[in-house]
Amino acid sequence: MIKQNLHTHSLYCDGKNTIEEMIQEAISKGFTILGFSGHGNCRHIDDYSMDEENTQKYIHDVLEAKEKYRDQIQIFLGIEQDVLGERFEKHHPYDYIIGSVHFVKTGNRYLPVDQSADITRKIVDYYGSFLNYAKSYYEEVKKIVNMDEVDIVGHIDLLTKFNENEEFISFEQSEYLKLAYECIDLLIPKKKIFEVNTGAIARGQRKTPYPHRTLLEYIYQHGGKICLNSDCHNKEMLDCYYQEALDLIQSCGFQSMMVLTEQGFVEKDIQEFL
Ligand SMILES: [Zn+2]
Ligand SMILES: [Zn+2]
Repeated sequence: MIKQNLHTHSLYCDGKNTIEEMIQEAISKGFTILGFSGHGNCRHIDDYSMDEENTQKYIHDVLEAKEKYRDQIQIFLGIEQDVLGERFEKHHPYDYIIGSVHFVKTGNRYLPVDQSADITRKIVDYYGSFLNYAKSYYEEVKKIVNMDEVDIVGHIDLLTKFNENEEFISFEQSEYLKLAYECIDLLIPKKKIFEVNTGAIARGQRKTPYPHRTLLEYIYQHGGKICLNSDCHNKEMLDCYYQEALDLIQSCGFQSMMVLTEQGFVEKDIQEFL
């Protein structure tokens, strides 16, 4: 059986645990595959992302742990690269790369899309409407289309983090959906993997994962591939909402998910997942 999480943060960025603590928790929760994805250097905007020194320590720790725990769990070294941050090459030394959008430009500064409802309101005020904001946000996501090094698209609709009760927009609003669909249509032919991300549930902001169900169904209907990740910042939440997410994924029609191996990503039957 397979239990995988490829989206894990540590003390080297904004996570609450060491690499070692995360691995021990993963083993005790029955994970077979754990991938680390520290925030790649984006220090000109993001204080939590890893600077050069922390990046080197991070790489060292993960590679050391990969050897140490080889018989108990498969460890992979990844990175979460912001579209505005440093570009990385997968083979030097990363096993895989998550491409994410965490910021949008408002005037001459960048604001985080996932920090608070208040900041989301500020961004919406700047753009004049949530729909205009969504246009800019999804333009940023589209940059991932041409990033050949990126394997996984991180939390594709992160901009809806504070929209649980549709405070900002209806999840079914057709113009909004069209913007997201356009991105998905461009990402699928590039073989990008969409992550089903339960991170906002762990943090109490959302009751369902990214992407919203309507988008997930669209991804399925258009032949997109997915994986399940917890975007873990706190070891207690390593498999937060995993069972429910598996049910959701199957109810959207998916019969497989992508799994990382030493030879790259392979597709596995959904019945093989814990
Ligand atoms: Zn992220
Ligand atoms: Zn993350």
